Amino acid sequence: MLKRDDVCRAPGCTDRHAARLDMDHAEPFPAGTSSAQNCGALSRRCHQLKTEGFADIVDSRADGSATWVTAWGQRIALPPRPILPGRPDPEPPSRDVPPRSPSPPPPDSAGDPPF
Ligand SMILES: [Zn+2]
Repeated sequence: MLKRDDVCRAPGCTDRHAARLDMDHAEPFPAGTSSAQNCGALSRRCHQLKTEGFADIVDSRADGSATWVTAWGQRIALPPRPILPGRPDPEPPSRDVPPRSPSPPPPDSAGDPPF
């Protein structure tokens, strides 16, 4: 997955420091599979914000595209990510899995949005 996601896949984040990139399951494991469609790299900070409910990925695809919804209702669609030269293609996208609904916002959601 890091061969496709050499930078955090959260909207607006450009963190590409490998030691700070976590492998995130868009739909949490074990319900979500450990596949190219469901997984992607997130910086430690963005991973924590997603885990705490400030944003969620409601549609994740093997080409690296994803749709995020923030706790404030902002919907952000990210385009596919190019496969870097010499790196394998991701598994073909599965269209059998419908997009998930966004998680409810956390109870303490006051303040500026992180994304
Ligand atoms: Zn990030």
